[in-house]
Amino acid sequence: MVGCAVTTRTRCVILATGGGPRPRKNRGPTAHAVIVDDVLYVVDCGNGVARQLAAAGVPLTSLRHVFVTHHHSDHNADYGNLIWLSWASGLRTRVDTWGPPPLAKMTRLFFEMNAYDIATRIADEGRVPLVPLVHVHELTEAGPVMRDERVTVTAALVDHPPVVPAFAFRFDGPDRSIVFSGDTTRSASLVRLAQGAEVLVHETLWVPAVDRLVARVPNAATLKEHLIASHTAVEDVGRVAAAAGVRTLVLSHLVPADDPSITDEMWIGAARAHFAGDVLVAHDGMEV
Ligand SMILES: [Zn+2]
Ligand SMILES: [Zn+2]
Repeated sequence: MVGCAVTTRTRCVILATGGGPRPRKNRGPTAHAVIVDDVLYVVDCGNGVARQLAAAGVPLTSLRHVFVTHHHSDHNADYGNLIWLSWASGLRTRVDTWGPPPLAKMTRLFFEMNAYDIATRIADEGRVPLVPLVHVHELTEAGPVMRDERVTVTAALVDHPPVVPAFAFRFDGPDRSIVFSGDTTRSASLVRLAQGAEVLVHETLWVPAVDRLVARVPNAATLKEHLIASHTAVEDVGRVAAAAGVRTLVLSHLVPADDPSITDEMWIGAARAHFAGDVLVAHDGMEV
């Protein structure tokens, strides 16, 4: 695991760092954990998020809130699985979930699809009912999302065509602020949301590698156009971090996520050309 000693009360673990839903060897699809006083807030639920939490030593029973930035499968494939498997791991307390419509329908259909397992574990193993634990909140606008005794969460609408709405989230914790870009083109609303934050976790695209990436996905004729129109080139990520005045920029949701010709030094160098603060390339399980 790559990482550095972190002693903040507002912890941030980058659980999985790849952009796009394709299963890969080394970078899972996007997921993040914010942990304050052992209470877990998950941001995005790419495939494997529960496994990544286990690998990071974060108890699934500490799950309290789940945030989904937008409904692409590299961000929501394991939304239901995260809750279901946390319950299977002993969760017996309330979970609130937050994200764009149709989050409520997705939640209902997920529980319906898995009703057999849920019912048999309640009857056979004496578990608390799962469905009443989960409270869904659909988000359609920018602004305040939720506040509790540990964090304040605020959303910005970002530009990720054709997916509407798509959100970035800011967590203001007891000792620092962390912003997750979600998926977005270079976005003025994100610059505003991230003003003065200690940490900006931003998606990133290596434009010269897009043709090689697209050649590996033979069933998506207009994937190149989507990637260019809907994501942020790494040079522009540096510009966004500079405009927002953040202390540390974390490059994650890497596109491509599995091109060995693009080294960490290359990602960092391209962002640093436009941003004087710290720049990190995220790796799965890294705490920042
Ligand atoms: Zn994505
Ligand atoms: Zn997306």
